[in-house]
Amino acid sequence: MSVMPYKNEGSEDFSIEANAKAYDEAMKKVKAGLGQHWDLLIGGERVKSDKVITSYDPSREGFVVGTVGKANKEQATEAIEKAYKFWKEYWRFTSAEFRARILFRAAAIMRRRKHELSALMSYEEAKTRPEADGDTAEAIDFLEYYGREMLRLGGEHEVYPWPDEDNTLVYEPLGVVVVIPPWNFPCAIMAGMTTAALVTGNCAVLKPASTAPIIAATFVDILLEAGMPPQAITFVPGSGGEVGDTMVDHPLTRMIAFTGSKEIGLRIQERASKLNESQIWIKRTILEMGGKDSLVVDATADPEYAAEEAVKGAYGFQGQKCSACSRLIVEEPLYDEVLRLVVEKTKKLTVDHPENYPDMGAVIDGAAYEKIREYIQFGQDDGGKLECGGGVKEGGWFIEPTVISGVEPNHRIAQEEIFGPVLAVIKARDFEHAVEIFNGTEYGLTGGIISNNREHLERARREFHVGNLYLNRKITGSLVGVQPFGGFNMSGTDSKAGGPDYLQLFMQGKAIAERF
Ligand code: NAP
Repeated sequence: MSVMPYKNEGSEDFSIEANAKAYDEAMKKVKAGLGQHWDLLIGGERVKSDKVITSYDPSREGFVVGTVGKANKEQATEAIEKAYKFWKEYWRFTSAEFRARILFRAAAIMRRRKHELSALMSYEEAKTRPEADGDTAEAIDFLEYYGREMLRLGGEHEVYPWPDEDNTLVYEPLGVVVVIPPWNFPCAIMAGMTTAALVTGNCAVLKPASTAPIIAATFVDILLEAGMPPQAITFVPGSGGEVGDTMVDHPLTRMIAFTGSKEIGLRIQERASKLNESQIWIKRTILEMGGKDSLVVDATADPEYAAEEAVKGAYGFQGQKCSACSRLIVEEPLYDEVLRLVVEKTKKLTVDHPENYPDMGAVIDGAAYEKIREYIQFGQDDGGKLECGGGVKEGGWFIEPTVISGVEPNHRIAQEEIFGPVLAVIKARDFEHAVEIFNGTEYGLTGGIISNNREHLERARREFHVGNLYLNRKITGSLVGVQPFGGFNMSGTDSKAGGPDYLQLFMQGKAIAERF
């Protein structure tokens, strides 16, 4: 099989009028079509449910994006059992090429419908145009990359030879993989985890996040259009609190691929480790969790550039990225200047419905809105100073981008994940102190440094304990195949999505020796 080498999709240039116009048209088309309903997909059949999940536009109060069926425990159980049957009887024996071709075709369909998918996220997730475009592009990248990775990993692998024998190593799929994505990269992470499971020959049981089910339903339709057997991809939206345990606990569940909060990740880890009746394997888990990510600015940095990169990393998608810059650690000599520039730039950011092309949209829902506002108060209660933001705007879950200065490393807003547009600015006495503050949380996802000092850059490489480290640039925006993604400590199992080791986590190796 011959395909072009992998290449990142890249972001669309919306300063070109034709591209901006095409996005405008996609927004109109998507808006006119909102309000559709998707049933569950179990055992290859569309299945009705008693209840529904309604997805709302976070930037427009009460505006319905669509509805999906809401699975109950019995349906979640049936989903695992039917997926297992199809896997055992058919799917596990399909070739790597067969499965990769479905991904390549799905990627081509997504590319043709790119703005439409992005516009859907502008409504369902309040993603601004560049953020939504980046999400869709990353999803396409995952499909293209994992398709090629499976071609590399399929077939027989060379091992050292042994006299009078033929020895080889092959990778086999595991079985049923329960895929539980978060809402914040509702296309990219959802599609990446789902297709990694499928292309490696597992059946995927997808339970999308309850605040992002419509983009997931649309993606499942694309997979089906691309030729994915409907029995291989099971779609069971449902409340994580209600059906999550059922799916994780089922003895026929072989693996759980999860991305989300630390609390739920740890819960899954614990439950998956328990042996249930009739279970004959140790369940495997991928648990990618939260972050409390820092950017260090040392005394040799260009303050203007440092402030620019900090602001980009802090407020992209309203700070609702696991990689978001939530702590800015500045060495004392530059502290006042960098803070001044950060506040100046933050005040210029606009907050509005993505239809009006602002810098930021609303945060995901009422619960997030309350939590973020609570943390803005904690920041001040603990002794920080509100430099700008903190305010809200009517009509949706809008929160202004917020800068809190004078934060100490032990303050709640310097330790706990807020997942919103709040930047804590911390003063470091010297570089030694900055390194200590940087590593002083339970997380270890992303982080970086802005510096012109080679010794500091090298030290950051060695000592900054994070899975994704960025030198002299913003700390968000990892690219599939270029910056494999995953974190240390309480940020997760460091599975490195979009990297060369990822697909092997969904498979097991079989060494075969034949004596002649
Ligand atoms: P979350 O609340 O943990 O939810 C994640 C998923 O878990 C959702 O599909 C949720 O379903 C489901 N869930 C909830 N309770 C469950 C249970 N008892 N058993 C099984 N599944 C359950 O996280 P989130 O708010 O969607 O996402 C934000 C978090 O994800 C942040 O902490 C962020 O840092 C992290 N994140 C990490 C990465 C990374 O690569 N490390 C990437 C993106 C996001 P419902 O929606 O129905 O509750």
